[in-house]
Amino acid sequence: MRIRLILLITALVGVGWAESTTPVITPGGIVNAASYQANLAPGALATLYGTELADGSPAIQTTTGFPTTAGSVTVSVNNVNAPLIYVSPKQINFQLPWETPVGTPVPVVVTRDKTPSTAVNITLAAAEAPSMFLNDYANGIAWVTGAQCALSECAVRVGGTYTLWANGLGPKNAPLQDGMPAVYGGSLTPLKVPGSPASCQLTIGVQAATVQYCGAAPGEIIDQINFVYPAGIVTEVSDPGQLRYVDATLTINGVTGTFRVPAPADPDALAAQTLALMTQDEKLQLVHGVGGPVTNIIPLPRGAGGYIPGIPRLGIPDLYFTDGSVGVANDSQAPSTALPSAIASAATWDTTLASSYGQVIGADMKAWGFNVNLGGNVNLNREPRNGRTFETKGEDPILAGKINAAHLKAIQAQQVVACMKHYAFNDQETGRTSANVTIDERAARETDLLAFEISMRDSNVQSVMCSYNLLNGTYACENSHLLNDVLKGDWGFPGFVMSDWWATHSAVAAANAGLDQEQPDNQYFSVLQAAVQSGQVAQSRLDNMVARILRALYATGAIDSTGAVTPVNTAAGQAIAQQVEEQGAVLLKNANNQLPLNPATITSIAVIGSHADIGVLSGGGSAQVYPTGGPALVEGYPSVPGWSPVIWDPSSPMQAIQAMAPNARVQFNNGNNAGAAAALAASSSVAIVFVSQWTSEGMDMPSLNFTDVIHPAPSDQDGLVNAVAAANPHTVVVMENGGAQVLPWLSKASAVLEAWYPGQRGGQAIANILFGAVNPSGKLPLTFPASVNDLPHPTIAGPSSSAPFPVNYSEGLLVGYKWYDANNIAPVFPFGYGLSYTTFSIANAAITTNLTAGNPNFQVTCDLTNTGSVAGAEVVQVYLGMPAGLGEPPRRLVGWQKVTLQPGAKQHVTIEVDQNDSSHPMSWWNPAPGAWQVAPGTYTGYVGTSEAMADLTVAGTFQR
Ligand code: BGC
Repeated sequence: MRIRLILLITALVGVGWAESTTPVITPGGIVNAASYQANLAPGALATLYGTELADGSPAIQTTTGFPTTAGSVTVSVNNVNAPLIYVSPKQINFQLPWETPVGTPVPVVVTRDKTPSTAVNITLAAAEAPSMFLNDYANGIAWVTGAQCALSECAVRVGGTYTLWANGLGPKNAPLQDGMPAVYGGSLTPLKVPGSPASCQLTIGVQAATVQYCGAAPGEIIDQINFVYPAGIVTEVSDPGQLRYVDATLTINGVTGTFRVPAPADPDALAAQTLALMTQDEKLQLVHGVGGPVTNIIPLPRGAGGYIPGIPRLGIPDLYFTDGSVGVANDSQAPSTALPSAIASAATWDTTLASSYGQVIGADMKAWGFNVNLGGNVNLNREPRNGRTFETKGEDPILAGKINAAHLKAIQAQQVVACMKHYAFNDQETGRTSANVTIDERAARETDLLAFEISMRDSNVQSVMCSYNLLNGTYACENSHLLNDVLKGDWGFPGFVMSDWWATHSAVAAANAGLDQEQPDNQYFSVLQAAVQSGQVAQSRLDNMVARILRALYATGAIDSTGAVTPVNTAAGQAIAQQVEEQGAVLLKNANNQLPLNPATITSIAVIGSHADIGVLSGGGSAQVYPTGGPALVEGYPSVPGWSPVIWDPSSPMQAIQAMAPNARVQFNNGNNAGAAAALAASSSVAIVFVSQWTSEGMDMPSLNFTDVIHPAPSDQDGLVNAVAAANPHTVVVMENGGAQVLPWLSKASAVLEAWYPGQRGGQAIANILFGAVNPSGKLPLTFPASVNDLPHPTIAGPSSSAPFPVNYSEGLLVGYKWYDANNIAPVFPFGYGLSYTTFSIANAAITTNLTAGNPNFQVTCDLTNTGSVAGAEVVQVYLGMPAGLGEPPRRLVGWQKVTLQPGAKQHVTIEVDQNDSSHPMSWWNPAPGAWQVAPGTYTGYVGTSEAMADLTVAGTFQR
């Protein structure tokens, strides 16, 4: 590398002949050697031009370090001799010593045969951007090298590891260290940038690349960044023969350098190339799984839920389809990080943390050698009793879509194809395979479909799972409107559609309607070849099905993933699991500041119920994770749905509570006998009752009350809380459940914490919140109604036979909080609600608009102040009231920002809402002509801490 760069630089410079021994530096002739445009910085390579600099080009021996003298020549910078890498009569390349002061002129002197030049002053930039070594100076294209392309610009592949060569990444550990040879035994550790790689953020396109190393290049005088090429870079030109380039940035400690790097080849073009080499049998092989029918489920390799053998001659890997909404779901064959439920991730309202959540799922998938994740459940929570609510992201399409997109994108960054599901309107488990959802087009587009649209557009997800149910009379997996018109047409989805497991109902109708892959078996698609031969399905359609599957593999880099099984990084996964629970648990009630508990004053604690002595509950069904280290308890198979075990994850809340209050007497009562529990509570300073609601795929909750569906002889948890609260006024209720609940004992409990299914570090997270080591900041992603009678459908529609039965979404646009607002029904806890141990005030709310044609947007601003006495975070939420007469709900969430403030601190918060965002925040779906439109009229912006009017301030209005 070094030699190549030097040649590059020197190619421009002729070698002169010395006539005098007094060297002369050309004024302005000292420049950054990596990119002539970049500033000089400590540690950077510089080129110095002049005359009479040397009497030839003395060989520079670098095996013992870069010398500060070459022949008789030295270069001093501020009286420090610089490491030299090339010396000639007209050009010297050297490193600016790390100890050179910045921001002030310093003298540079070339000395030849003890004769100094006149000093030339240079000023090193104070906050220097990293500068890249360029392959093409005119277009700012950086050198990108790799194992297969060490000496030429790489044709990059997503997921491949490459090196960028750079300058001035420092300062590093010690002055002049880059001038040293490779005496570090090959380890990159000693010379990395402080904080590296976290302090080096590389983006390519708008995608973040994983930086593996950032610092000095051992044995070289320059710096290097080793990175994994990210997925999701959209390239427009379908010309695989030609290298294309994409903008990139490297930010180091807050300073950003910009340049360009090669773009990956267009995945569609790569797919087309591969497709052209495939036989018809090979094509047919990719469009269905090899599992058995539901009546004869065949165990698949690695315990995967779905499997398609690869085609080694074409480099197509075996495809392992594995569930994983809340961690990788694969029973004891592949223990993985049991994250808190996805609804807890939504309750953080933190898309960065949601990214970490997806990253854990993707990393665990990769560790187990699985390459298609089936986890992106973004069915909207229309029906709060839905047994799969814990897998979803709540009732609001924008919050759900953005959180889901963050999960999916982070999964795909691990060379794993992500999947969003269940497309669409699989919002209840009751009769899910025969439910015929009826809804009008406008309501469909603005509610459930919007959550999918945002997920897809923001994540570049490469697979979609069509659902079991029917939509307006047609099964989702053969619904051409859903698949062809909306998903692939209007939204331009480029990846493939797979059926939910055994949700295919035909070959010809399904393939022509847009289904690309039958799962998990070949029950219907076995006749596809015959259908192609007879012309019922065009060959071009089969080719398109295959091309879509292939492009998903190329776009995500899954095509190049080795599939090797490696250890799961349990420590990293569990740290994120704990963080998500700490940020996503919602404090619902805290009378008289019952919480946080003070270990100095509490002498005894009663811990009651829900196996809180050993673990925390998880949700059941296909999303069930088998936690690393094994479950705390497997409690049988409840009769409904019959096939899913109840798993209690490790991390004992009781132990964590005891650790927080080491001097207190902490005792456990299992809660089976309310009288005994109350007696223990009566003799304790504080009672903490854990109530739990197990739910699973394959069932809906019988009611919104805590209902024991696990045991043949159910325990009465509402009665338990009542008895304990009557015995001790300091009763704290911790809820482990998947979604909204009704809390008949709410007035009696002094504090209530919604912990969701807390994941395998839940015990620690809950104790940290109860004792104030963590200040709760979670906010409800769904409404808690007072009663099932307040729901749009007090009774869940169910089948009377195996024939399709109607589920009429008569509430239309009024999903979740929009229903309660429009009907003036007060919920118990509104959407967006959640308490903190501190208090916040919002003042000076205002709206400014920038409704230009190209980039229309508005900003809501306010001053947020932490008015309490501890640090905490508030989610500032912006809602928009649409013009009157449009038939829209009273207001919709359009933006938010989670802000952390020290006590007494104030922050000016700006939340921008872009009309052109994937969430269509200012638009309505106009069924004729069938388009998102911005209606004329008055728009009202609200800002506050929940969606309830009592928590909102009008920030202003504007006209369109
Ligand atoms: C579920 C899907 C799941 C699939 C594979 C189905 O029963 O509805 O969510 O991905 O099984 O396990």
